[in-house]
Parts: sequence; structure tokens; C-alpha cells
Amino acid sequence: MADLVDEAGLLTEQMLDMRVKVIRQSLQAPATAVKACEECGHPIGKKRREIMPAATLCVDCQAQSERRKKYFLRKHDE
Ligand SMILES: [Zn+2]
Repeated sequence: MADLVDEAGLLTEQMLDMRVKVIRQSLQAPATAVKACEECGHPIGKKRREIMPAATLCVDCQAQSERRKKYFLRKHDE
């Protein structure tokens, strides 16, 4: 009986340990945390953030903003 209680206590401790580790990881790694697009609020993909850590827009919104920029530049030239 005592063994069962010990085992249960050990399991709870391990579960708490794991939870603390997960919380610590999320606090220590803000660079890899999910970042939301400033335009649409969708999460920016991990790969995109690896290539462009300063990206504040998702791929779709970035493409749209580039198109807008090109459009305005063309307008400006005319
Ligand atoms: Zn977006």
C-alpha cells in the first residue's frame, strides 16, 4: 500500500516538473513563440520567422503590402 502512495507522489512530482519545464521554455524562448501577423492576426509560420525574424506580417499580407507598394511606386512615376 505504501508503495502505491509513493508511486502516486512520484508521478505527481514528475508531472509538475514537466509543467514547470514547459512554462520555463515558453518564457525563455520568446523568439520562437508564436507571433501573430499585425495585419490579419494569423500566426506567422515558424519557417518565415526563422528566415525573417523581424517579420511582422504573414506571407499573404506581406505579398499584398509589396503589391500595394509597387502600385504606389508606379503611380508615383507616372
Ligand atoms: Zn496576415
